[in-house]
Amino acid sequence: MGLLQCADTYRTFSGQCTECGHCTGACESLIAANMTLGDIAKSMLAAERGAHDTDEVRTRIAQNQQLIQAVRGCFFCTSCKNTCFAHNDVCDLIYHARIDFQNLGLIEREAWSSVLVDQEWDIFTAYRAIHGIGYADLTRHVQNDHHEAQHDCDVAFFPGCSLAAYGPELTREIFEAVDGLCDKATMIDHCCGSSLKSAGFFDRAEALCENNAAEIAQSGAKTLVCVCPGCANDMKVALARKGVEVEVESLASYLGKRGFTPKHPMPEGTLCLSKSCQDRDGTYLRETCAVLGIDPDTPSIFHGCCGAGGAVSAFKPERQAQQADSKLSFAPDGATVVTMCPTCTYTYAYRLMSAPRNVVNKHYTELMFDNQFDWNLVFAQLGGMWYGEYGAWLASVFA
Ligand code: SF4
Ligand code: SF4
Repeated sequence: MGLLQCADTYRTFSGQCTECGHCTGACESLIAANMTLGDIAKSMLAAERGAHDTDEVRTRIAQNQQLIQAVRGCFFCTSCKNTCFAHNDVCDLIYHARIDFQNLGLIEREAWSSVLVDQEWDIFTAYRAIHGIGYADLTRHVQNDHHEAQHDCDVAFFPGCSLAAYGPELTREIFEAVDGLCDKATMIDHCCGSSLKSAGFFDRAEALCENNAAEIAQSGAKTLVCVCPGCANDMKVALARKGVEVEVESLASYLGKRGFTPKHPMPEGTLCLSKSCQDRDGTYLRETCAVLGIDPDTPSIFHGCCGAGGAVSAFKPERQAQQADSKLSFAPDGATVVTMCPTCTYTYAYRLMSAPRNVVNKHYTELMFDNQFDWNLVFAQLGGMWYGEYGAWLASVFA
């Protein structure tokens, strides 16, 4: 191996890029960097060329502020990919660049120390432990004080880390609905590892998903029901890689096929559906519209990253707020913004708390079920964790 772990990826990408510049025009981060995606690949290779050791490569990259902007400023929204006639894979390129950035010590520890979701403690597990949120009773494939490990489950339910942490009552209500529509459901309340990928720990993210896949196989489940399109995408890949034959289905599709009727009244006024970056072809959004009885052509639909993608906020904190504002600006006064990914819901809630506007922010599951997120409580509890009796412990764990 040379001085850069992912040099082959950069060579391949460079060979496929015509330098047409269409991607740059689609992206504020690339415009700020004045680079195309192909320039990123070439700049990484240029930093390696002729260098004597990794210290020299690190110094060269650290001095190239355009390259740092392009790699760290990426939301992984894939907007640029839509403009690329060669269909060059931006995520593949920038995830690999992040691996080399991480290897070279170019991503500061504060950017990822609280989101190492393959460790015992991350911000979600700490929040859950401090606030007494757990699902051991619903995790039927794992033995605990109240039940043996059960291997005859029909469905595994995957709420994702944000929903499981910040919406415990909603998570339980959804689980009960899924459980009531099959022979036996179990819960996989782990993370899909997207924060690890953003921080340059790609292998660890894949290993985490493979562990999830092994647990699903152990449960006997033949269907994995995911709330978030991002979790569904990552788990599909991991299940295939591990040779586990399990069908991955969106929650909306699963419920819709079984005649589920939403329990919550639909909000009045304009609905603005916010497509997830991970739902590139819009399948998830259409399935959600179907179960909610919404004509997907009627409501205002606006797309692009909510601002949380790619851990850009750890690089330039103001960019998350700007991006969230930019998306929320499409919602007319009094509208309800409906998100597909619970992390988008979290991001908009945070932004609306900081800069209120007359817009209601709902995850699609809140339009299906009685329980709702209580973001005021969540943010108060998240903030309080750092000052209360657990403050010193948290500070040392995430130092
Ligand atoms: S994925 Fe999005 S943020 Fe990243 S380079 Fe492409 S358009 Fe820019
Ligand atoms: S749009 Fe595609 S081919 Fe054109 S510069 Fe960007 S990556 Fe290269």
